[in-house]
Amino acid sequence: MRVSLLQHCNLGCVYCVAGEDQLRQSNTGGESLPVEQLLAMIRRLREQLPLDTVRLTGGEPLLYPGLAALIRGIRSAGIDAVRLTTNGFLLERMAPALKEAGLEALNVSLDAVDEAVFVKMSRRHSVDRIIRGIDAALGAGLKVKINTVMMKGMNDSQLIPLLEFAFARGLTIRFLEVMAMGHLHDQADRFLVTQEEILRTIGERYQLAPEPRAASATARYWTTEAGHRFGIIANESEPFCRDCDRLRLDSSGHIYGCLSSNQPIGLGLTETKEEWDEKLKEALAQKQELKFVGSDLSMLYIGG
Ligand code: SAM
Repeated sequence: MRVSLLQHCNLGCVYCVAGEDQLRQSNTGGESLPVEQLLAMIRRLREQLPLDTVRLTGGEPLLYPGLAALIRGIRSAGIDAVRLTTNGFLLERMAPALKEAGLEALNVSLDAVDEAVFVKMSRRHSVDRIIRGIDAALGAGLKVKINTVMMKGMNDSQLIPLLEFAFARGLTIRFLEVMAMGHLHDQADRFLVTQEEILRTIGERYQLAPEPRAASATARYWTTEAGHRFGIIANESEPFCRDCDRLRLDSSGHIYGCLSSNQPIGLGLTETKEEWDEKLKEALAQKQELKFVGSDLSMLYIGG
């Protein structure tokens, strides 16, 4: 289950928001559930579903007050795999406390290593600060993966520099095809760098061996002759909807069975188990059969 902790963010990435106005609106709106309420929901969901992994996301989850307490609470509810997706902006100072609270691993979103391209993608400085955050997380003993959304004409020059950055640190990097979400719902094609194009560029420099796709995995992985590993999340070219086993909980307590559905289903803590069962079935019925269709809800709200 992915839990979006808040809809606020300290970056303004071009795939999430159309501009500063949308970011400001998001940052001033939407109350998040406090730690105790979120924990009560997660505990109940764990009783009703075979829930073994929780990924905390947002908005920017490192801005959520009480994050360490939340991680501790999820671990004591018996869920060992607690992971986080972050832009890494606040990671340098927070990494040790997150590890201590019981965080297992994190994905850091990094769309460029060149500062000018990073600013074009995120509307903010600075890439060095995020790299220091990645190093602090590694130093604290957290497992780290890098996620990069590839966008044609925006950061496609960064494919090899990012790959080399990750390989130099022994990290796995995953390249995401841009998804038809939010303000890009009807224009993602314009920016799409396909799995095939990514593989072609990397294949010009490295000998690649594919790995078999694991069940329910979002990414496919390849290894180079030197044993470095990278992945591609190909929502558009190779959708993985058919065996998707994810459920989403947003920051106001709505569940969604699918990113392509912006039909939030509200869960109330005073409702009965039977009522929750019905709502969970409804959420899971939102799953698409074949193709990722997206929605006009930004991942800032539903959680990336
Ligand atoms: N703020 C955190 C971060 O930056 O990792 C967590 C939330 S953010 C919505 C998580 C991730 O969602 C982004 O880094 C990006 O990988 C993904 N994302 C958001 N919108 C996307 C889109 N239209 N296409 C592909 N990925 C997208």
